[in-house]
Amino acid sequence: MKPSDTPFFDVVVVGGGPAGATAAEALAKAGHSVALLDRAGRIKPCGGAIPPRLVRDFDIAPELLVARISSAQMVAPSERRVPMPIDNGYVGMVDREHFDEWLRERAAAAGATRFTGRFQAIERDGGRTLVRFLPAARSEDGGTTGEHLIATRLVVGADGARSAVGRQAVPGADKVPCVFAYHEIVRAGPQAAGADYDPVRCDVYYQGHISPDFYGWVFPHGATASIGTGSALKGYGLRPAVERLRAAAGLAGAETIRREGAPIPMKPLKRWDNGRDVILAGDAAGVVAPASGEGIYYAMVSAEMVAEAAVNFLATGNAKALAGARRAFMREHGRVFWILGIMQRFWYRSDAQRERFVAICRDKDVQRLTWESYMNKKLTRRDPAAHLKIFFKDLAHLFRLVSP
Ligand SMILES: Cc1cc2nc3c(=O)[nH]c(=O)nc-3n(C[C@H](O)[C@H](O)[C@H](O)COP(=O)(O)OP(=O)(O)OC[C@H]3O[C@@H](n4cnc5c(N)ncnc54)[C@H](O)[C@@H]3O)c2cc1C
Repeated sequence: MKPSDTPFFDVVVVGGGPAGATAAEALAKAGHSVALLDRAGRIKPCGGAIPPRLVRDFDIAPELLVARISSAQMVAPSERRVPMPIDNGYVGMVDREHFDEWLRERAAAAGATRFTGRFQAIERDGGRTLVRFLPAARSEDGGTTGEHLIATRLVVGADGARSAVGRQAVPGADKVPCVFAYHEIVRAGPQAAGADYDPVRCDVYYQGHISPDFYGWVFPHGATASIGTGSALKGYGLRPAVERLRAAAGLAGAETIRREGAPIPMKPLKRWDNGRDVILAGDAAGVVAPASGEGIYYAMVSAEMVAEAAVNFLATGNAKALAGARRAFMREHGRVFWILGIMQRFWYRSDAQRERFVAICRDKDVQRLTWESYMNKKLTRRDPAAHLKIFFKDLAHLFRLVSP
């Protein structure tokens, strides 16, 4: 392609998951020309659980929710089961195949131009920033179309965990600690109810033989279910652990539709931008909540903040504006991430600790505050008496003053 043929967009967003699609939509709505590049053909491995706050804030079409979960069941190493009903709310379940495409189409409807292909490299030609990619489509005469270039002022790297954009352009992006998560999608409609499976209940397994440092889950998705687990320990047998989970849920014999895994980043990067022409969002920036592994909401929120910083940068030409995205995110969510990080390190380190953690979940105040925080994404400040009570209960467990 001759340099003069190279198309130009104010912004190239690499990756069309929740972060990329959200950033592309916000930037197009702000009046910028946006190229949204996503590789085709792979459904993001994901449990698909989203909070009502996401559905509300990002105006998600109700038909994308394939299940509304009304309770959780926490399972301890001793097999003790603690029910956690959700009052006044739900956990929404989406199938990423449809959810992500819907978000990408919404970005296109807002004015973003979609490209399908695999990001290769960021290049510089004089003062120009160029994004090189390998198109997925074939040309009309049946041959491949070769590598393509797009010229731009800013690249948003929203290409997920272990982001290729990040590794090429942002210092530290290659060193994000990750949990590797693996799940199986199985056929499990309401008829599968029985054994220990309920199509409107999420089961969360805190057991060392399911995960030595994270947790296992059974998330119902209407006609299917996601059954998975994760661990940061290299070589831990995730597949056999999922086999055990399926047996525990009574879904060992259910038809397997997909088997897939992916890393989940566990720590926000110290820098999201390169101080020049690249900024990261979502998993690429490491923004997944520790302990829970919840990343869809944070990907979308971080992308909005990245879009806002990008608008500033494009208006002023001052690359320092890009750092505003991380600052805004950490101001809003840094405290919750810090607390969840401590929780993960403290409660997930042995079966004895996991037993105590599940025991704490019996408390009605713990249940109420957990669900309110999850659903609304705010640490509830009301009801200081309940916080105090939980604090003293935590201490009692910490110092082994009570039995699990
Ligand atoms: C097994 C598992 C279960 C999970 N369960 C949950 C859950 O229940 N709830 C929750 O909130 N979070 C969950 N997460 C985390 C969640 O999936 C992520 O945090 C979220 O998808 C991050 O969104 P993103 O847009 O940043 O990245 P991604 O969703 O990973 O999107 C990245 C996009 O970039 C594209 N891409 C990648 N490389 C290239 C390239 N070279 N060129 C072009 N395009 C590229 C991909 O096709 C993809 O569309 C789970 C993760 C895993 C692995």
